[in-house]
Amino acid sequence: MPRARALAVFPGSFDPVTNGHLDIVRRGLAVFGRVRLAILVNSEKQPLFSVEERLEILREAFRGNPRVELDTFSGLLVDYARKVGASVILRGIRALSDFDYEFQMALMNRRLDPRIETVFMMPAESYTYVSSRLVKEVFQLGGRVSDLVPPVVERRLREKYRGKATRAGASRTRSKRRKR
Ligand code: ADP
Repeated sequence: MPRARALAVFPGSFDPVTNGHLDIVRRGLAVFGRVRLAILVNSEKQPLFSVEERLEILREAFRGNPRVELDTFSGLLVDYARKVGASVILRGIRALSDFDYEFQMALMNRRLDPRIETVFMMPAESYTYVSSRLVKEVFQLGGRVSDLVPPVVERRLREKYRGKATRAGASRTRSKRRKR
């Protein structure tokens, strides 16, 4: 059982959540009382899954775990953390390539609010190469992702790309019709 009652915010895009994220949550729960996954609502990124879809996926992936909370946020992460009473920002570090950006962000967040501590955790080695982006690419090219994501994500990916293919097919048919 975790000794601390602390609430840790785990911010990210989670587009979609992977077993790497799940691994970090599990490790976080071993140290902190509660872990809250907070989806950053970012109008600049072009996500595959909408914020509502990502929340639904997370709800299913973490169903029955009362110490895992789910939310969305926009604006400054430290403002959000303060608002929900979190004393920790939890982030995952996969490789050295993550480090530069994460380090910079952690120091900036510390400058913005020195009371909130950023804690980095490392996933199991088997997840160090897993990213949401790669999962989407591999799945789209027909590769197997069942070891990399929870079952709900695989199902949602199948539905999403089937929908996309159908829409693309429909619009091709429409444009052919227009040409005639
Ligand atoms: P962001 O856009 O904030 O990077 P992500 O959803 O890609 O959002 O990642 C959220 C957090 O999870 C980041 O700290 C990232 O380093 C971490 N993370 C992503 N994939 C993994 C993984 N396979 N193992 C451990 N941590 C990961």
